[in-house]
Amino acid sequence: MPPLQGLKKEIPILSSYREKKHILWFTFLPGSFIKNKRGTLTMKRLMRKCIENLTPYPPGKPIEELERELGIVGSIKLASNENPLGPSPKAIKAINENFNNIHRYPDGSCYYLRRKLAKKFGLPMDRIIVGNGSNEIIKLVVHIFLSPDEEVILPLPTFLLYEKVVGSFGGKIVTVPLSDFSIDLPGILEAVSSRTKIIFVSNPNNPTGKALKKEDISRFLHALPSDVVVVLDEAYIEFAADPDIASAVELLDSYPLLVVLRTFSKAYGLAGLRIGYGFASEMITDGMNLVKQPFDANYLAQVGALAALDDDEFIEKTLTLTRDGLEFLYSQLDRMGLEYVTTQTNFFLIKTPLGAGETYRRMLGEGVIVRSMESFGLKGYIRISVGLPEENKRFIRSLEKILS
Ligand code: PMP
Repeated sequence: MPPLQGLKKEIPILSSYREKKHILWFTFLPGSFIKNKRGTLTMKRLMRKCIENLTPYPPGKPIEELERELGIVGSIKLASNENPLGPSPKAIKAINENFNNIHRYPDGSCYYLRRKLAKKFGLPMDRIIVGNGSNEIIKLVVHIFLSPDEEVILPLPTFLLYEKVVGSFGGKIVTVPLSDFSIDLPGILEAVSSRTKIIFVSNPNNPTGKALKKEDISRFLHALPSDVVVVLDEAYIEFAADPDIASAVELLDSYPLLVVLRTFSKAYGLAGLRIGYGFASEMITDGMNLVKQPFDANYLAQVGALAALDDDEFIEKTLTLTRDGLEFLYSQLDRMGLEYVTTQTNFFLIKTPLGAGETYRRMLGEGVIVRSMESFGLKGYIRISVGLPEENKRFIRSLEKILS
């Protein structure tokens, strides 16, 4: 084997992946292949087959990137459903008090955090798993359960990461379109086959913001064959205002293969720390622990999350800000005669007469980062997260300007 240095050259190229639609492109770039006695080695030939068809995850544009590229200052980001209030103050205080311990590896079992979560949710600690964001737990579920060519059912559209993770493990994706922006549980039941291994349900659904009622989820679980793993991703459940929308944590005992996911990234404002958690039967958490990296939830993330769980005041403030913000934004969009999709989360969809891509680009020019929904297949829609009151006003002003 010749040295692999030639391939290393690709790494800087990957940093511009945001612009690229498909990974095959880098087969053709200089430095993206090496020649040896056996011919030309391209990444396409070297990578596992299932990887070559993946597309890079398109994250919301970071503020620093926009400012660097367009020379704009004071831009705002309403693109990644983050908490505009910042992190939980209790988390900041705890992190500040614990910096001097970061020379130690963190507690890989996340003992104190799991113990607190166990108390809060009334579940045994062994049924709780903590990860490097709930993203990691999504990957753990797929890693332990999915064999190549088994099927995974995904609503369409939904959180893009499910598709990416399933694809990277060689799974076959079966999609079930939403019904009026909501996840179609009867449609999913119809799509279940003998090859179905996992079903992902984002409740509330990203990117549409619609949520399912507990009775509907319960009926759905009862109708499933008992060998299908169901992941109920509740990344935004804290925001749900409708009292009929309750967490599926209470359904864990009625369906042994249910996994419920939560995160500290949204309501608790800790997205940058990367910490999320999940509930499942002990046999599933044991399975995940077989493949889990030992120190994935870092020390400060554990410290911050532990303190944030006590910050009820911050959660209350976040929910009030979100609901007031939604009320303001809905009323302004009504005034402007624009269509939108009401939400149970801190983000929602807006239909724009300019088209999603063009609206996204022109809003960037105004220093406002929104999310085009084209990659989610929602033509003509942008998604915005609720911001601070002044950010919401700026969004409306900029939208009116670009539409005029
Ligand atoms: N699930 C959904 C539905 C999400 O929208 C997100 C974040 N965009 C996540 C999970 C991942 O959250 P985390 O930051 O905990 O990895």
